[in-house]
Amino acid sequence: MTAKSNNLIKGATGDWEIVVGLEVHAQVNSRAKLFSGSSTAFGASPNSHVSLVDAAMPGMLPVINEECVAQAVRTGLGLNAEIHLKSVFDRKNYFYPDLPQGYQISQYKQPIVGEGAVEIDVDGEAIRIGIERLHLEQDAGKSIHDQHPDSSYVDLNRSGVALMEIVSKPDLRSAKQAQAYVSKLRTILQYLGTCDGDMEKGNLRADVNVSVRKPGAELGTRCEIKNVNSIRFIGQAVDTEARRQIGIIEDGGRVDQETRLFDPQKGETRAMRSKEEAHDYRYFPDPDLLPLEFEQSFVDKLKAGLPELPDQKRARFIKSYGLSVYDADVLVAEKANADYFETVARGRDAKTSANWVINELFGRLNKEGGDIGKSPVSAQQLGQILDLIGTNVISGKIAKDLFEIVWSEGGDPADIVDKRGMKQVTDTGAIEKAVDDIIAKNPDKVAQAKAKPTMIGWFVGQVMRQSGGKANPQVVNDILKAKLGI
Ligand code: MN
Repeated sequence: MTAKSNNLIKGATGDWEIVVGLEVHAQVNSRAKLFSGSSTAFGASPNSHVSLVDAAMPGMLPVINEECVAQAVRTGLGLNAEIHLKSVFDRKNYFYPDLPQGYQISQYKQPIVGEGAVEIDVDGEAIRIGIERLHLEQDAGKSIHDQHPDSSYVDLNRSGVALMEIVSKPDLRSAKQAQAYVSKLRTILQYLGTCDGDMEKGNLRADVNVSVRKPGAELGTRCEIKNVNSIRFIGQAVDTEARRQIGIIEDGGRVDQETRLFDPQKGETRAMRSKEEAHDYRYFPDPDLLPLEFEQSFVDKLKAGLPELPDQKRARFIKSYGLSVYDADVLVAEKANADYFETVARGRDAKTSANWVINELFGRLNKEGGDIGKSPVSAQQLGQILDLIGTNVISGKIAKDLFEIVWSEGGDPADIVDKRGMKQVTDTGAIEKAVDDIIAKNPDKVAQAKAKPTMIGWFVGQVMRQSGGKANPQVVNDILKAKLGI
């Protein structure tokens, strides 16, 4: 069976294929806005980061921020896309209270970045998703409706902040693929340092275009679901909207092209406005801005400074550390996780390091709902714990207790082991004494064990318990076998 047929969904009239294209708005990492020097810092008091340009005072002229241009170029390079040495800013005209200019400065016919691609991995299959374009544009301000029962407010702090709109080709065929694509894109932007990818703050949000068709048919009419702000909601929005459209068509109706909103509470999409066409916006080149032009050397310099990207890091983790594809994927999904792992693995066994980072550390972080930046156990401390196992000072089991202590109380792992007497007992004399004790107390079990050697596990458990988990399990096993004669 091909992967494509896996993605088909059943309707009353047979199979349907979902077609998804995404427009992702990613806030550019930059201290200042796209056309003004105002700060982009998040969480400031309303209207405190607003210049005369951002407030669209008459006669104010926009001046392009070179850092935002560099960030867009870096992103284009990271998406293996064509960089356009000449691009044009246009005015996209519409009225909204939080858009004081009455138009958004965006790029229409000549974007800064052209076609590229992102590779995603879904259920073990690599799929190439085409990028149509990336353009720079201004963000709008924010309307606030919930502060007062009969007033609305406008906060212009976000007005003029640089966004990269990254448009995919309609290459996605399922909710899962759409989610994998946004996750991958977010990871790439984070590695590049061009967007922090913080979806809770709205710094990365997706407009999701969904249509359905019978396999092999022409593209259906699409609906655009605006501003979906979490990976989970993107998946839900795709499925919900596809089912809605299939229902309409199978009932003999026709899908209207429109802009819709996804309501996560109700699990439905609802109409927002009928979709405007590009010509409704009366795009025209912004007369206040010259075409944006730069030299190839500007691109080359940025290219030379690009960091290692997720796909490269994943390949390196598999090749030079011998990690499984799964472990490599988990570790590279967040750059901070990959960095943490590499610090732990330096000079140590890579697989053991990966196991501890993925199972113990991530397990604990997930339980607390925190990310690695807030881990109370540093990579150095985890490395020291692994060294204590490696040199047989503590057992793997005690190491988990030690990890827990370092997690909640901090401190130097070796000191904790010393002070709390957690060292593994490898002294055969002491272990032999414990083994003799248990054998003497359980003659019936001894008889059973001689008939059924797997019973040895019960004895190992008893000795380990008596030693408070500190006996070296291998030594215990060897002594027991000798004494029981099995
Ligand atoms: Mn846009």
